[in-house]
Amino acid sequence: MHDDSSESSDDDEVLAEAEEAGDAGNPWYYDIKNFNQEGSFPNYATKADRKYVRQLATRYVLLAGVLYKRSFEGRLLRCLDKEEAQHAIRELHSGLCGGHVNSQMLAKKIIRQGSYWPTMGQDCHKFVRGCMKCQIHADLIHAPSSSLYPMSSLIAFRGENKNHFH
Ligand SMILES: [Zn+2]
Repeated sequence: MHDDSSESSDDDEVLAEAEEAGDAGNPWYYDIKNFNQEGSFPNYATKADRKYVRQLATRYVLLAGVLYKRSFEGRLLRCLDKEEAQHAIRELHSGLCGGHVNSQMLAKKIIRQGSYWPTMGQDCHKFVRGCMKCQIHADLIHAPSSSLYPMSSLIAFRGENKNHFH
């Protein structure tokens, strides 16, 4: 029983490592940037892959070697790799001007700041959920309200109403 659980967690670790190694080698925008820069496709790309990259690339602009995504309002958002993305999240959530905003606000702040990456919504959500200060704050909000409104006064109030209507 113990062996089974340790085996499955090993598999998870291998998968996680493989994923991280891949991400570290090539940022998510690698193929798009290459296409915009040199008009080239990855070697393994099938015909369908090429069509997909070509379509995707029309939403991106390359300026002085930096890739930007066109936002819906026509603004240019700088594409961040994994490391830059984590840095931006940390700065805008728990940095000096972060204010520990919720994940939706955090994603909006990142776009307003002029940055973009495809998994920003999920990553913000994950980061906020893992933020100790935010968890403590959430626990306080969801704590029973008995300390704010003593139960005895609510019972007294209900009792009063009953008497009044009878
Ligand atoms: Zn927080």
